[in-house]
Parts: sequence; C-alpha cells; structure tokens
Amino acid sequence: MTGYVRAFGDGSRDMAALLGGKGAGLAEMTRLGLPVPPGFTVTTDACRVWLKTGEEPPGLSAETALAMARLERAMGRRLGAADDPLLVSVRSGAPFSMPGMMDTILDIGLNDTSVIGLAEATGQERFAWDSYRRLVQMFGHVVLGVDAHLFEQAIAARTARRGTHDEHALDAAEVAALTDEFKSIVRRETGEDFPQDPGEQLTRAVRAVFASWNSERARVYRRREHIPDDLGTAVNVQAMVFGNLGADSGTGVAFTRDPATGAPGLYGDYLPDAQGEDVVSGVRDTVPLTELRRIAPRVHHQLGDHLRTLERHYRDLCDVEFTVERGRLWILQTRIGKRTAEAAFRIAHDLSEEGTISADEALARVDGAGLTRLMFPRFATPDDTPLARGVPASPGAAVGAAVFDSAEAVRRAAAGEPAVLVRRETSPDDLPGMIAARAVLTSRGGKTSHAAVVARGMGRVCVCGADTLDVDTARRRFTTADGVVVHEGDTLSVDGTAGTVHLGALPLTTSDVGQALATGTADGPLTEAVLAALAHADAVRRLEVRANADTPEDAVRARALGAQGIGLCRTEHMFLGERRTLVEQLILARDDTAREQALAALLPLQRADFTGILAAMDGLPVTVRLIDPPLHEFLPDRTRLAVRLARSPDPDPHDRALLDAVERMREQNPMLGLRGVRLGLAVPGLTAMQVRALAEAVVQRRRDGGRPRPEIMIPLVGTVEELRLARAEAERVLAEVAAEAGLPEHDLDCPVGTMIELPRAALTAGRLAEVADFFSFGTNDLTQTTWGLSRDDAEASFLPLYLERGVLAVSPFETIDEEGVGRLVELAVAEGRAAAPRLETGVCGEHGGDPASVHFFHRAGLDYVSCSPFRVPAARLEAGRAAL
Ligand code: PEP
Ligand code: MG
Repeated sequence: MTGYVRAFGDGSRDMAALLGGKGAGLAEMTRLGLPVPPGFTVTTDACRVWLKTGEEPPGLSAETALAMARLERAMGRRLGAADDPLLVSVRSGAPFSMPGMMDTILDIGLNDTSVIGLAEATGQERFAWDSYRRLVQMFGHVVLGVDAHLFEQAIAARTARRGTHDEHALDAAEVAALTDEFKSIVRRETGEDFPQDPGEQLTRAVRAVFASWNSERARVYRRREHIPDDLGTAVNVQAMVFGNLGADSGTGVAFTRDPATGAPGLYGDYLPDAQGEDVVSGVRDTVPLTELRRIAPRVHHQLGDHLRTLERHYRDLCDVEFTVERGRLWILQTRIGKRTAEAAFRIAHDLSEEGTISADEALARVDGAGLTRLMFPRFATPDDTPLARGVPASPGAAVGAAVFDSAEAVRRAAAGEPAVLVRRETSPDDLPGMIAARAVLTSRGGKTSHAAVVARGMGRVCVCGADTLDVDTARRRFTTADGVVVHEGDTLSVDGTAGTVHLGALPLTTSDVGQALATGTADGPLTEAVLAALAHADAVRRLEVRANADTPEDAVRARALGAQGIGLCRTEHMFLGERRTLVEQLILARDDTAREQALAALLPLQRADFTGILAAMDGLPVTVRLIDPPLHEFLPDRTRLAVRLARSPDPDPHDRALLDAVERMREQNPMLGLRGVRLGLAVPGLTAMQVRALAEAVVQRRRDGGRPRPEIMIPLVGTVEELRLARAEAERVLAEVAAEAGLPEHDLDCPVGTMIELPRAALTAGRLAEVADFFSFGTNDLTQTTWGLSRDDAEASFLPLYLERGVLAVSPFETIDEEGVGRLVELAVAEGRAAAPRLETGVCGEHGGDPASVHFFHRAGLDYVSCSPFRVPAARLEAGRAAL
C-alpha cells in the first residue's frame, strides 16, 4: 500500500520522517516477525496536507477504510461489531520523540451495542463498561473539547457516594451508569451525542491527533527542543489488546539493559491485570520484571528472546511496551532507549567490546555534556524547590554556610568549616574568599562575568546572576523573591550544574569518574568505559586540546586531565589578591622612578609564577597572554573609597591619591576601554616587565634541565600597528635577557601571536598574519563586540527573556554563533592562512570547551581549542566525535 496510509508490514525503521518514530518501530518489529498487534499508519504527509489546508488530503478516507478492512480480515473481527467487536487505538507518532505532548484515544469502536458484545466475548462486564467509559471520556475531551475536569468531578462524586476515592471499587452497573453520565456531559457541553458510528469515531480521532500537533504544549515543547513546526505527526491505528482481563494478563515496560547504570540484562517493570495508562498514572505499584518470571515463565522467556532480537537488530539499547492478554504476549512499541550519561558510556563500551558496534560508533553514542555531568559531585536527590535559580556558571555541587565577604570565607575555611560565598557580584578583592569557599553565588553577572571565569578556572562550584536574590552585604543576609531571609551561617546547597541554590544541606554523591580522569586509572565498568571512549577520541581527533590555566596548580590539574599545553594564561589573574597593592603603586606612580620600583617589585613574583607553570607543562606549549584587565578592576570601588574618606576625620593621603587615580581612570565602558594591548602601550615598562619575567623563567627552567616552550600572546589587538609595536618590545626584551644570560641573540625568541577579539582584527586578519605567528580567537570578547552585547550583563538581564521567547535558541556566549561570530572566525582563518600558510590557529574563549562549538572549530580548520581544565576531557571527547 502506498499513498497516505501504510500497513505496519509495509515500512521500516528508517522511515521515521514519514511514519513517525513509533510507526517506524512498529513497522520494523512487524518485519522482524515480533508479535505486534496489527494496524496501519497514517503518514506525516497526510498530516502536513491537513495542517496546510485544514482539509484531509483527497483519498485519505478511502485509504483508511481499505486499511481498516484489511485489519478486520487479519483479526477476524469487525470494528465495533455487535458481537466480539474489534477495537483500535489511535496514537500520535512524530518523527522526533515528543513524549506526552500529543493525543491518544483508546478503545475506538465501542458504542451502546458493541459494549455488550465485548462484555460477552470476554466474559467481563465491568471491564467492557470501563473501556467504554474511558472512550467517552477521552473522545469527549480530545476530539470534542469537553473540559476534562467535568469527567473527573463526575467520577469523584460517584466514588464519594460509595465512601471511597477509588474508581476500581465501582461495580459494572455503577460504571455503566457513570458512562451514561459521561454521555450526558458530552451532550450538555457540545450539543451533540457521543458518536455511535465506529467509522466516524475513527475518522474524527485521526483528525484530532493531527490537530494536537499544534496544541499549545506541543508548540512550546518543539520550540524548546528545536523541532521544526512543519514536520507534522503520523497517526498509528492499531488493534487493541487488553492487559486488564484478569490475573493472566498485564502490561509493562522492558529494557534490553539497565537504562540507569547500563548494566547488562533485562530490566523493567510489570503490572498484572492492568492497562498501559495505569502504569503511567502511577496509581498502582509495579513489580520488577523478575516477578513476571515467577508469574508467567513462558511469557518472560519470550519477552527476553524478543528483546535480544531487537537489541541485535538495532545494535543499541532498546525499550518496549508490552501487554500480556490472557497469557499471550504482545509488543506494542519499541524505541532506542533513553539512558543516563552513565549508562550511555557503559552500554557503548560493552556493545563495542562484544563486537556489536565499532569503536567509532561507540564514541558517537556518548557526549561531552554527559561526561562533564559524571565528573562532578552531585546532589543525590533532586530538590525541585530551589530558593533561587541563576546561571549555571561552574558545575558540581557543594554545601556550606552562607558568608557575605571574602574574609569570613577565609576565616571559616581555616576553621575547617565549608562556606558558600554570597556576593552581589565578585571583584578581584574576593579572590581569597573564592579560593576558600566551596561555592560562589552571585545575584549579578553571566557566564563570562568575573565570578564565573575565576570560579571555572579554579573548578569552584558557581551559580551567578541569581537575580531574584536581594543580597544585603552590610547586614550579612539575602532575601529571596518569596521573602525567605538567609542569614550568615545558614546552610546552603549550591548546584552549579543546574544553576540552583537550596536551603539546607542536600546529600552529596562523589564522582568516581572525576577521580579516574585525574589519575588515569579505572576501578569499575563505568570508569573503564569512560577512559576507553577518551582513548579512542584521542586517537581519532585532529584538534589539539589545551587548557586555560593561570597557576601551577591549575596547570598540573589540566595536564592530568589530558591538556596538551596551555592556550591561555591570563596574567592579570596573577596580580590579584595581595599583589593588588603593587599594581596600585604602578598606577599611582607619578614619575619613572616610582613606576620602575613598582615594576621591579612585581617582576620576581611574576617570574616565579611562570617558572612554576612552565615546569608543570614542561615540553608542552604555554601561551602567556600579556596583561588584559579593565584597569578599574585593580582599583578600589570609587564609592566605598569616597565614603571612607568623607567619614574619616583625618583622611589618609594614600586614600586621597587612590581616589584621584580612580576618578582619573574611570571609564563608562571599561570593557571597551584601556585594556589589552592598549594598556601595554600606555603604561611604559609593563610589557617589558612581563616579557622579562617570562624570559628569565625560561632561562631558569633550561638551567634546571627543563624544556620550556613559551608563546607570547597580545590581547585585544585592533590594528597591525599595535601588534608591531608590542612584538618589537617583546623581542627587544627577549634579546636583552638572552644577552644577560650569555645566550645567542635570538636564542630566547618564541612564537608571538595575537588574539582575535575584535571584528576589526578578524576583518584585517591578512595584515595581522604578516606580524603574528599565531591567532588565538578570544571568542568571549569577539562575541561581545560583534553582537554589541555586554558579556558581564547580558546573560543576567535580557538574554534569559530572549531564550524563553525563542528570539535566540542558545546564548551566544555559551555556544558559538556560527552565522555571525563563526563567520568572522572562518574569514580570519582563511585570510590569515592565505597571508601566512604556517599560521597556527586556536580558540581560547569559553566556547573552546563547549561541545557544539568544538565541532564548529573542527570544521573551521583550527589547530586547537583551549578551555578551563575541567572541560578538557569533554573537549577531547567532542574533538574526537567531530572527526568521525
Ligand atoms: C576572550 O575574550 O575570549 C578571552 C579568552 O579573553 P578574556 O576572557 O580574558 O577576555
Ligand atoms: Mg578577551
């Protein structure tokens, strides 16, 4: 049969676009000879015509009638006949799974006479009336649009009269009376009688399922899941089988393996004497499948055979819905089973070890997001009532006492007491507290705000931009939107993976996977599977994976997680904390001598940092980015300083000088201000000090027998002249240090490259490539400047609204905007390589660790991605998947 209707035997699993997922599965099982109740599928083509024109396609009713006649012949019964009637179910089935979003109508074919026939044929009067009652209810609601509450109220009233809440307590006569009542409700609400003609029931049910494609909840679901609106749904019409005909009947779901852990062996639930919807509604407790083996060993055995057939055939975890009707097993539906991240890794690995799938296929079936979830501690039990939600800025779960300033976090940590640092937003002043705390929570700022970037770098749990919280630092408390007040010392649980904050201590589970990745050794089936997937990814990927790391500790951690070097060492992070006063002195310096003194004080500290990092990454490239902070970040808060001065009877001259400097340097748009290469050119000696520190560290490392491989990176370059000047300065200092160390003039020379962070840099990449040895795309700033969106503010202000309303599918700060920012990347790579064929290219913005973006960077031909240490494993995995 072709056209708009296909019998189940006339299709296959790769026809999901036409038959929907469910229809394709039914077709495939029928072809495999599994016991599927016969039926047919009305195709998505038919639905699309209906959606477009509001009319059924010509010929559909004739085709449906023909298919129905064949079904009747196959079953030896007629739809809705007065004696032993055939009943059918009418179910939606979209090309992509949309669970519960569209409608289903069961027991089509029952009417005032066939209900008697069904009762006689099955010998079960109550069952027959209850089926009819359900049909009137479902049809009334779904097809005729009657308010579902009216039916529920009628049930409640009747059960109450019996002194119970349980409709199962009603006997056949009472259910028959209830059915009559339902029919009256339909008449009263719609002005028409419940249709007695089975053919009419069928036609109208099919149309209602078409219409449910455009129900509000289905549209919302599609928008969220990015499923196109014009696909339409198929409709499956299938002979009804009944699991509620007594003790030798039942219904259940079964998986070929455990979908939670991936452990091999049948897994599932069974409910004796029940229909599928009883399982879903959860009114009765199911029993494990092992119980079915006891109740009906033969059925259990058959089910096992069929599941093995399906898994062999689909070469993946499958699940089925099944019904046992008076000892006979029927399979109603199959799908590739949904699974947890843990099960995904384990099943892919086991199937590959069994030789069912290749190592490439196994890799394709796992993903970086799942791996990241497995790496971190998490809360053992979900809590759906968080105090607040924010941006999930740095994953993991942590519990601690709320504290409202850095000093208190440090104090508690020293006393062995875990703390959660709560701030409106963080500044460099908060660094010690961020190090001391278990988690950081802010009410302002997005994924690339200071708190987020620093927390991620350190692997600290962080939720930022929880903007319903009113943080009152002075009174050491915050208030939620519901008026809950949390004081210092109250226990909080912070879920950095979900972006939620909870009151009290939620129980934590630790991560074996995190441990195995850090040590490289497996201690069970899951960790073995994860390490195997990563090993294969490493073998097939083209992209290198480096890490963004600013301290020797981070570098060691990143290397253990598989980083092949450092792609971004943010040197301004080395100036935070106690060293900030030295930077203050540099900024306040009124003459060369004062400035030189400040620089001289910074030099040894910076050299020690570089020595440690080069040692941790010995033999691997370390890309040192010259300082790039908006300067105000290094100066105290203007208002606070002004208040301090105003209140002091005897103002400190240093404070006054500071306030002058703060006011002098104040910018309306610091992100677009004196930062990056501009700062290096504006503050004499700054670039030289940093390059000298690096060069001296290299000399030191070489003397210690190491193999340092530094690279110098110039940030926020807009024109080739900036790069030329910065490069010349760097090379002058490298030669100077070489001479001092008694080395040949160019012996310390190393690659000098530029970041591409401004549209102008991307657009003039050909010119920049004449002076740069490498390009590193700073996609945080490149996104900010291409979109004209503040990376600090947008994610917490209007981006959530944009995402909710579907203006954007995903934040451009999270996943690279291929159309816009991505195009600049492609253009810069092409023009850069045209000018300098050996130009190395990488990305060091946050996108470097985002799974979808990694695939784009692979396609764009970059040489490496660089990301926070904890994202390195996921980036390795995704780089491997991108290469498949
Ligand atoms: C970037 O802009 O993408 C980048 C890596 O630099 P930063 O985040 O330090 O501005
Ligand atoms: Mg940047």
